[in-house]
Amino acid sequence: MAAAASRRPRLAVWKFSSCDGCQLSLLDCERELLAVAEAVEIAHFLEASSAVGKGPYDVSLVEGSITTPADAARIQRVRKASRTLVTIGACATAGGIQALRDTAELAELAGAVYPDPDWLEVLPRSTPIANHVRVDLELRGCPIDRGQLLTVIDALLHGRRPDLSTHSVCGECKARGTVCVLVASGTPCLGPITQAGCGALCPTWHRGCYGCFGPAETVNGASLSRHVLAGGAPASALLGPLRSFNVGAEPFRRTAARIEEEGGRT
Ligand code: SF4
Ligand code: SF4
Repeated sequence: MAAAASRRPRLAVWKFSSCDGCQLSLLDCERELLAVAEAVEIAHFLEASSAVGKGPYDVSLVEGSITTPADAARIQRVRKASRTLVTIGACATAGGIQALRDTAELAELAGAVYPDPDWLEVLPRSTPIANHVRVDLELRGCPIDRGQLLTVIDALLHGRRPDLSTHSVCGECKARGTVCVLVASGTPCLGPITQAGCGALCPTWHRGCYGCFGPAETVNGASLSRHVLAGGAPASALLGPLRSFNVGAEPFRRTAARIEEEGGRT
């Protein structure tokens, strides 16, 4: 990663409702982190430093979903202060695991979790950043892949649009010669409908993909569920992963609803 010429681009990292795991992926870049720190001015990154530089920022990385009225107002300010806004992770791109609350009665859930839920001030749904402001680029995953993050930062610093795959995890299995766990051993796997980017991590370790990178560009959930259920797997083998980190992603939601409608064996 080449050092910048005159003024270093200013990078900001923001957190909304999230676990901080995606921001930690940036800190986890270890060897490359010094190069990043040399190439950009890290103007706002509370996970790493309490020093706060005022905007505008050249690149903002935004983690987390919008779940409160305060979040909804703050993301507008972040957008105004940012030239390029990149959302990072399943929370920011699909509402995250916290969107699970959208599948139940909010008041009931709040009452079960908090002794005094009247203090809670939340929006009815946990929504992705793109539902609120213009987003220039989305990085998927729970957490994001640090290699992808570095590729994106490098591309933005050099004025290029990063080349992010929108095909499925299956493409990555083929590219690295991983034997298909679904075909070879009947392991339920969301790889055919999940976006690439992780390097087919789970199938390479003989596990089915559970969809942490969210839906691929083209999703044929009906075909995948037919194949998996015909192989004798219970519907829960698909419903569980479809309703986890990316429960708020429409193609996953549709696929899960269809499995239930068709009365898959649980
Ligand atoms: S996407 Fe996953 S790792 Fe990233 S902040 Fe959300 S819960 Fe944490
Ligand atoms: S194979 Fe699937 S579950 Fe595993 S890391 Fe990749 S996208 Fe996530």
